[in-house]
Amino acid sequence: MHHYNIRGTIDIAPVRLGTIKLLGETNKMGFIKGLAGINQELAKRPSSGDFADREPAKWASIAAKGAAQKYVFLQEIDEGSPNFSEKNGLALFSLQHSNPDNWKKNAACTIDLGECYGCAQGWRQKIVFYVNVLHVDDPEGPTVKIWSRGLGKGSVAQSLLDMAADPDYKNSITDKTFKFSRTGTTKDDTTYTLSNLGLDHGLNVEDYELFDLEQYVFTVAPERQEAYYLDLAQGESAPAKPAKPVSASSVDADW
Ligand SMILES: [Zn+2]
Repeated sequence: MHHYNIRGTIDIAPVRLGTIKLLGETNKMGFIKGLAGINQELAKRPSSGDFADREPAKWASIAAKGAAQKYVFLQEIDEGSPNFSEKNGLALFSLQHSNPDNWKKNAACTIDLGECYGCAQGWRQKIVFYVNVLHVDDPEGPTVKIWSRGLGKGSVAQSLLDMAADPDYKNSITDKTFKFSRTGTTKDDTTYTLSNLGLDHGLNVEDYELFDLEQYVFTVAPERQEAYYLDLAQGESAPAKPAKPVSASSVDADW
């Protein structure tokens, strides 16, 4: 069976994209844009984790219940896509942790730097997908934004991966228009749906200026992670007893 080998660490069989294995080897075509590579790149940057000089991101999100937005994805997931653009590069995936007692505290796994508070705590790694989209029907006019979602069974990000691996969809996500919608009335039953409208958008995805995604993966330097995840003030030490865990249903979105 043909496998897409993710640059760096991850291997995905296109017919069973739910199966993601960490290999820690190989350097072939990138279904995932090098998780190890991302962390190495972040480590090289002098302001790692801060990026004070970066352009503020615009994040694609739906605040209102029942609302929908139209998107054109500006980056493919794999270099093997017939519509892969060298100029735009690939979507990327990042391994992240969140504090199970405080799900709002999440950041990139830094185990590739040799030290990671989340790994040391035994917190599982989540895979988070980042891609530049053109929000076509933004009231301000078509706007480039970063669309970021957790990757899991039944997630909207997973459906994109499935499409990128499917010859029936021409192994492409940039040649279609999508409708991203939010349904549900309470936090607990909110779900997101991504529908392929299949419209010929007639746009050239290379006409837009994209965000450099690697700069927007939230990363905290290893020596500051404990304070970050536990929300400690400077100089404070970790409480002897951890806070009461929040319920699983309070975990947002599709993580
Ligand atoms: Zn980690």
